[in-house]
Parts: sequence; C-alpha cells; structure tokens
Amino acid sequence: MLGKGRVIVNTGDGKGKTTAAFGTAFRAAGHGLEVAVVQFIKGSWDYGELNAARRFPNISVTRIGSGYTWMAKDPNVPQQLAREAWAVCLEKAMSGKYDLLVMDELNYAVKEGYVSVEEILALIRNRPSRLSLIITGRDARPELIAEADTVTEMRRIKHAFAQGIRACKGIEY
Ligand code: ATP
Ligand code: MG
Repeated sequence: MLGKGRVIVNTGDGKGKTTAAFGTAFRAAGHGLEVAVVQFIKGSWDYGELNAARRFPNISVTRIGSGYTWMAKDPNVPQQLAREAWAVCLEKAMSGKYDLLVMDELNYAVKEGYVSVEEILALIRNRPSRLSLIITGRDARPELIAEADTVTEMRRIKHAFAQGIRACKGIEY
C-alpha cells in the first residue's frame, strides 16, 4: 500500500514538532490508513490534538498517566509511566496492524533516561516494513538522527512565551 515505511524525527527548540506529527497522523487517517499515537507525558495538560485524534476511528490514542498520577510524590512514577508507554509502543509497532505510529515526546523520555536509544534503534530495525514512525521531542540523539530517513529541526526564531504571553488553548495545547 504505502511501500516501505519512513522514520521521521521532528526535533529542535521551536514550535511545531507535535503539531506536525499530528498533521501527518490526520493526513494518513484521511487515506484510511491505520494510525497509533502514543504520547510520553511531560505535564498534565489537556491537549486538544489528542481529543481531536480520538474522533477518528482509525487513530488509536494512548496517553498513560495524565492528570494527578503524574503529580504523585513517588519519584519512580514518571519512569514507570514512561516504561508503560514504551511497552505500548512496542506492542503497537510489532502488532502488524498499523501503517503509522507516532511516539510523541519520546526524545524527552530518552533524555530523562527512561528509554534507551538502543531500544529505539531495535524497534526501528525490527518493525514490520510498512510501518512508518514519527518521533518527536527536543534534543534528538545523534544515533537516532543517523538512523532516520527524514529529520526536521524546528528552530525557534520567536516564541510568544518569551514575551510573557500565556499558553493559548487551541494554539499551544
Ligand atoms: P507544538 O505542540 O505546539 O507543536 P512542540 O511539540 O514543538 O510544539 P514542545 O517542545 O513539545 O513543542 O513544547 C510543548 C509546549 O510548549 C507546546 O505548547 C508548544 O506550543 C510550546 N513551545 C514550543 N516551542 C516553544 C518555545 N521555543 N518556547 C516556549 N514554548 C514553546
Ligand atoms: Mg511537543
């Protein structure tokens, strides 16, 4: 159908990594392809894009540990949640059911030491060949950049946050 899947990395310090990943998810869904999105959590915001994605019957959305769970005092909780999310990525990737798997903020989980870059390279190499992957987050590791087919660095020229403007619903989340 799609031929060989792509490995796409959206990184850099500017705005647009997650929204570009969801744009591609919606594009694929519009062609009737099967899409899975797994979000590694940085905060407990209610992200509009996840609610929008849930409206598509062919986009499966997984977000583990939103809301108060994240605020738990136990310092092991963030790591446990990231490991759970990673287990879902592996299961979705290897299931053979999907054309596209978005792993949003996976680079953040790597930076925190929750997921190793070797694990990601193994997933990339062992996945069904038709499966495309999109990995987002700042500070993508060089090993991942080397392995990917398409890498885009969003570079911040300006961001409203820096001028003290609060995050805007529907634009920033
Ligand atoms: P978006 O979700 O808008 O595509 P992103 O995924 O590229 O952004 P993240 O690094 O995940 O950006 O940042 C999460 C939140 O911070 C989002 O609300 C995003 O709009 C905002 N943001 C992105 N880049 C910057 C920046 N350079 N300074 C301040 N806030 C930013
Ligand atoms: Mg993001």
